[in-house]
Amino acid sequence: MSDAPLRLDGPREECGVIGISTPSDDAAQLAFFGLYALQHRGQEAAGIAVADGQAVRVHKDMGLVAQVFNSSTLSPLVGGMAIGHTRYSTTGDSSERNVQPFVVETLHGPLALAHNGNIVNANHLREQLLKRGAGLSSSSDTEVLALMLAATEGDSWEHRLSQVMSEWTGAFSLTILSGTKVIACRDPWGFRPLSLGRLPNGGHAVASETGALRTLGCDSIREIEPGEIVVLQGQMARSFRGATPAAVQARCTFEQIYFSRPDAVWDGLGVHQVRQRLGAAVAAEHPVKADVVIPVPDSSLPAAIGYAAASGITYNEGFVKNRYIGRTFIEPTDELRRQGVALKFNTLRENIEGKRVIMVDDSIVRGTTSGPLVRLIREAGALEVHVRVTCPPIAHPCFFGVDMGTHDELIAHHLSVDEICHHIGADSLGYLSVDGLMAALDRDDGYCNSCFTGDYPVEVQLQLPTDSKRRFDGVIG
Ligand code: AMP
Repeated sequence: MSDAPLRLDGPREECGVIGISTPSDDAAQLAFFGLYALQHRGQEAAGIAVADGQAVRVHKDMGLVAQVFNSSTLSPLVGGMAIGHTRYSTTGDSSERNVQPFVVETLHGPLALAHNGNIVNANHLREQLLKRGAGLSSSSDTEVLALMLAATEGDSWEHRLSQVMSEWTGAFSLTILSGTKVIACRDPWGFRPLSLGRLPNGGHAVASETGALRTLGCDSIREIEPGEIVVLQGQMARSFRGATPAAVQARCTFEQIYFSRPDAVWDGLGVHQVRQRLGAAVAAEHPVKADVVIPVPDSSLPAAIGYAAASGITYNEGFVKNRYIGRTFIEPTDELRRQGVALKFNTLRENIEGKRVIMVDDSIVRGTTSGPLVRLIREAGALEVHVRVTCPPIAHPCFFGVDMGTHDELIAHHLSVDEICHHIGADSLGYLSVDGLMAALDRDDGYCNSCFTGDYPVEVQLQLPTDSKRRFDGVIG
């Protein structure tokens, strides 16, 4: 355990969760393979808790799923029920204390909890717990949820959950493990995804993304509804409404744009399809004459395919990405991030030289990636570089579980589109509009676009931004 001082994590977490209930005793193994398929949702820490009908055992540590688990750490985790978690946060001390699942001993037996999302009233709830004399061992809002659940009256865990759920404001897709069952729930707004499927042996699994369920061979996959509680025990699965769904739901558009793996199906929409439509939409909004469309690999591939198909301009690869270097996003300073980009990408000169290039990216967040990429394309002999982004400018922080940084860190909070274009050294820059985004999703509402609009679906504590425009002065490209 780290001795680092406790600090509040705030909204700086991205996570994946899984839950398994099976008639065999290999739930932890299945959770391991499921977490592998959710690795993109968090690369900092991983953990699995398992129950055999009585006791709960847990193994968790900092690192990638494959670093945390091997046959010797998995083999003691015997039991038919398990939950798992993979986590990424950028906080400096990224403390081991915050690694999930959280396990607490309660009056009603052991309880483990894994959480994707962010509770915006966590500080208030934490204070209330402290006033009541509870001791907290971590800075994470997930422990607050676990302790509140443990202290709630009720004759079963699902009953207690339904009693306490309405006190939690914000994003929570949860998997919970007691000695005898797995429980999953989703917040009434439906911020983060969570789906249920049936395992080939008759058991069930829940996971942040449908791709993980397919990896486990699940069929009958369906989304867990906002406010729904699902209880898994052996081969049995039952569900009920734990909280009234919000009148206007708030699914995260950024899951569709960037965060989920392209094989995910969410809100009845295939993410790969959606991203192609986003590419087509930005092509329609910001046409430009060019010779080749290239994606920023890997997340922007479907968007670039969609852009090329809609514009009739040839699609080709322009970058080769080293897939073994973690996300450059993980680096703590801008300078390290810039170096990270060069370490991560090489250009395919033969596809770029002498051409007018459209570079398609799914998002510009801090603005540290695009400039160096534009420069790489120019160094490879491009005549022009036009950047097209398949989401609107991200000018506001996310409080619901996607790490986008603070106001100060977001380039679009400080600079106009023209200034960003100049900053990254592109010949032109076009972002998709919010209306274009929603049209590509074929939805009128039901999504949270607060990172683009600043219009948050629930009340959040905004920290006033400082005027740090200076950090974006000067041209990188
Ligand atoms: P930035 O340099 O901060 O503008 O990073 C933008 C790049 O990072 C884009 O190419 C995105 O595909 C990717 N990206 C966007 N959001 C995230 C996130 N929350 N975590 C990690 N990478 C991200």
